[in-house]
Amino acid sequence: MRVSKLSNRPAHQLLNAFIALVAVAALWLTTLLWVLEGALVAPGTGIYVAIFCALLFVGETRSRWFRFGDGGEVTPGWAFAFAIVLLGSPIVAIVAMTACTVFVDLRGRKNGAKVLFNAAQITASLAAGAVLLQLVGLRSPFTDGSRPSYRWAIGILLAATLVFVANGVLTCIVLALHYKTSVRSMMGRSFFLSISADGALLALSPIIVVAVLYSLLMLPLLAVTVVLIYQSTQQALRRAHEANHDSLTHLLNRRTFDQHLEGYLNSNLEGELRGALLLLDLDGFKEINDRLGHQTGDRVLQSVADRLAATAPAAAIVGRLGGDEFALLIPDVSADAEVVSTAEQLRLDLTQPINVDGFPLCVGVSIGLAFIPRHGRTLQEITSAADVAMYRAKRYRTGVEAFQSTGSRAEVGRLGLLGELSNAVDTNQLQIHYQPLTRMSDGAAVGAEALLRWTHPLLGAIPPAEFIGLAEHTELIGPLTQFVLTQATNDSRLVNRFSLRLSINVSSRNLQDRRFPATVMESLQRAGLRPEQLELEITENAIAREPERSRFAISALREAGVSIAIDDFGTGHSSFAMLRDFTVDRLKIDASFIDGIHHSHRQQHLVRAIVSLANDLGIETVAEGVESQEAWHTLAELGCDVAQGMFICPPLPLAHLVSWLDTRHSRSFERAVS
Ligand code: C2E
Ligand code: MG
Ligand code: MG
Repeated sequence: MRVSKLSNRPAHQLLNAFIALVAVAALWLTTLLWVLEGALVAPGTGIYVAIFCALLFVGETRSRWFRFGDGGEVTPGWAFAFAIVLLGSPIVAIVAMTACTVFVDLRGRKNGAKVLFNAAQITASLAAGAVLLQLVGLRSPFTDGSRPSYRWAIGILLAATLVFVANGVLTCIVLALHYKTSVRSMMGRSFFLSISADGALLALSPIIVVAVLYSLLMLPLLAVTVVLIYQSTQQALRRAHEANHDSLTHLLNRRTFDQHLEGYLNSNLEGELRGALLLLDLDGFKEINDRLGHQTGDRVLQSVADRLAATAPAAAIVGRLGGDEFALLIPDVSADAEVVSTAEQLRLDLTQPINVDGFPLCVGVSIGLAFIPRHGRTLQEITSAADVAMYRAKRYRTGVEAFQSTGSRAEVGRLGLLGELSNAVDTNQLQIHYQPLTRMSDGAAVGAEALLRWTHPLLGAIPPAEFIGLAEHTELIGPLTQFVLTQATNDSRLVNRFSLRLSINVSSRNLQDRRFPATVMESLQRAGLRPEQLELEITENAIAREPERSRFAISALREAGVSIAIDDFGTGHSSFAMLRDFTVDRLKIDASFIDGIHHSHRQQHLVRAIVSLANDLGIETVAEGVESQEAWHTLAELGCDVAQGMFICPPLPLAHLVSWLDTRHSRSFERAVS
């Protein structure tokens, strides 16, 4: 094993000192060997040493390097290098192995620190093994005429083990220093993995020597054996690599990233190092996936991963936590501002257009930062702090946010909020408010939209925009919609006494559930309502996510008599396609077109066009977010059928709405239309 990834920036002092120490040890051991040794090449072994040197060169330079995820490599050269040591020419083995390694490292443009360390650790490990052989009197155990004995076998075994252990331990120490993690956690991952790789190759060395000494004709057989062992160890490493890495982006997967983070936190219990965890979540990735297909989505993820790996600081560990979520651990931070500017830079890089088959695609990214140890000393604490920060960056569209403990609900984080929400369904924290829909021609209330309200015992009222979006990504949206459906249909006195149509918002996930239409019909039956008394509001984007499945649910429900309204019309990406492909009863024109409409000719033109289009298609129009009398009048002039908004009535609990309706009925709705 040897190091393939070390910092390009000025390395940590301790790391430099360690590399220097290994280099000194290597020099010292080689000098000792020089003193202990007689001839450079043991008599009568020149031809074998030359052959092994050639094989070593081929093994080191021609093999396809296989890298461990944490930066180690395994190469078949070890088998021949140790064979040369066993032939009594350790200095030749060291020079050949080191020269090949330096050659390969320089060819791979590795930096000075890596080249020096690899050369030093190879020299030190081989020299340590050779010195041990000398000390137990086995300078060239296969050619000095000594007969195999227990001492002989144990000596060789110990020397091979020493080479192997020294090599593995030195590599683990340097990687641990580089990643600022504990040597133990590094050993846990790399050392035992390398037993099957370097260990198997080293164990082959004595067999190679015996076979070649027996007859040079054994060489082809040996070559086959070495190649087979090398390939099988390579496969084992590849499997280990696959288990630790994400197959699409080749970044660390969540499990391995968490292990790294945990190792870092454990080695930093006293808080002597300051680090940072960055959580990145792409904005709008789902749309790319839904609209352009998973293949394009995959290409975008790969490109994001490449950019992340290229822009991240050299000592950072980068992982893909799943979906469109990535994470970065920066192990050594000198100032908070440095991390914030790194995050800003990452954001800038990631939001540059990504070229997929000649099409530039843009994705946004929201990044949450949490500082170690200030914001957490355990995996759980630090991850949820970064998650909370990322959630805030997403919600306020600020791009980058650092964790702040303000004690607000933002600090509960997405996961916390979801956990609390599932609890809320069972513990009476959810209520339904109703907002009336009024006919513009006479001001009569014709419908009521059920809007979910969550009152958290500690955090207070949480708006649906904050929790519905979260629930829509999980199975939780099922029980939530079911709750609204059951509760609202049970409030049937509203519907029956005032002849109102009840509107309920449904999500894309609800439409994808094949049982959904039947569930709706059951709720209606249980409450004694007719299907005509119910309307389901669906946003364009909800339908666009899974048009085929949505079609099934929508047509089943419409055939049964339930009305369908397109909610927030005009804000989705497919308003016209929606009208082409789906038969609906109402369009709810989004509040953004209505807000300030009496001042804006542009908005008036747009709404007029929507109303005329809807009229031609026989669809009713509803204006959402009507906030003033001026807006009401403008909309009435534009021919809008129905209005909903604060000017008429805010969403209210059932009892309040009932008394509002009572008063309004007695006043014949004159005020609103006067
Ligand atoms: P929506 O379906 O478009 O609901 C209308 C939103 O406009 C409501 O926000 C309502 O309170 C707000 N609103 C009412 N009058 C005015 C006004 O004059 N001006 C403005 N600007 N806004 C007004 P709310 O209650 O916060 O709900 C937000 C969204 O959350 C809803 O938008 C709906 O998409 C979703 N939602 C609410 N309840 C449920 C539910 O039970 N299930 C699902 N799937 N989604 C829900
Ligand atoms: Mg709605
Ligand atoms: Mg709406």
